[in-house]
Amino acid sequence: MTNSTFNVLPSEPLDAYRRLYEETDLPLNVEGLEHALFLKKRLSVCVVRVDQVHPQISGNKWFKLKYNLKAAIEQGASCIISFGGAYSNHLHALAYACHCLGLHSVGVVRGEPVDNPMLIDAKAWGMRLHFVNRETYRLRAEPAWLNALPSLVGDGFILPEGGSSALAVKGVGELMQQINTVEPALDYVVCACGTGGTLAGLVSTAAKTVVQGIPVLKGAGFLHDDVSALLLASGHERTASKWELDLFGHYGGYGKMNAEHIAVMKQLEDDFSLSLDPVYTAKLFRRFMEKVENDDYPEGSRIALVHTGGLQGRRSIT
Ligand SMILES: *Cc1c(COP(=O)(O)O)cnc(C)c1O
Repeated sequence: MTNSTFNVLPSEPLDAYRRLYEETDLPLNVEGLEHALFLKKRLSVCVVRVDQVHPQISGNKWFKLKYNLKAAIEQGASCIISFGGAYSNHLHALAYACHCLGLHSVGVVRGEPVDNPMLIDAKAWGMRLHFVNRETYRLRAEPAWLNALPSLVGDGFILPEGGSSALAVKGVGELMQQINTVEPALDYVVCACGTGGTLAGLVSTAAKTVVQGIPVLKGAGFLHDDVSALLLASGHERTASKWELDLFGHYGGYGKMNAEHIAVMKQLEDDFSLSLDPVYTAKLFRRFMEKVENDDYPEGSRIALVHTGGLQGRRSIT
């Protein structure tokens, strides 16, 4: 009786998960930011270097994936299926995480088949890519389409776009608790938003800190509902802290980056001696500087910007 082989194999992904998530100490560096404007407006500003938590499972995705990966393994899934654009930081992080855990992965990618550094990495880490046109991609949360998906790509644990589920809120909630430990008494914490999962997670454990989200999509008012739904689904609708969206930081819309935006990004990188990505964090920093200029924060405020990572997406820009 090969009892041992029967028992050992299914636990391997869980062992790998523990090595990845539970046996490593994460560096969570918080760095003060200096700028003449902050002195003038009497603000104390820092950046939470979530971009430094893991070299591949970048930034907020590390926290968003944490309990989703665990749930997939505990359910006995051997494959994880998720969704994203051709530059998706989420698919990039997921592909690497599945590679580490010995799981298969499928990326349902919006648009015509293409090749770029992100997709080349994802394929090298074993992710199977399934390209769908934009109309089909819009069905990514429709139960009927999701039920039919396994007949196209095989069985697997289906993770919503961006990994934004109640379990993502739980993981990012732990990030906010760590931020509170390193930097107590923050008045504001500010992050870039795509699907709003990160915002919901920060809100879930922010206590007295006000959480501000800067959506990088145009017309992202729908995120009010999406964030509320995530807070409800994760049991935080009552405990949740004050939060708000600022809809003026998309600079033309998702993935849009004209020459002016790239120039502003490079100036900000210079000013603060750090790297930004054009899609998310450059828009966060750019909009934040405008808000400071507009006196949106009372004198004496203590503010943290969350650097959510995503620097793999910067590779196409020199
Ligand atoms: C995915 C991503 C976001 C958006 O996170 P959501 O939880 O979808 O709002 C923000 N910043 C970076 C760098 C990202 O990769």
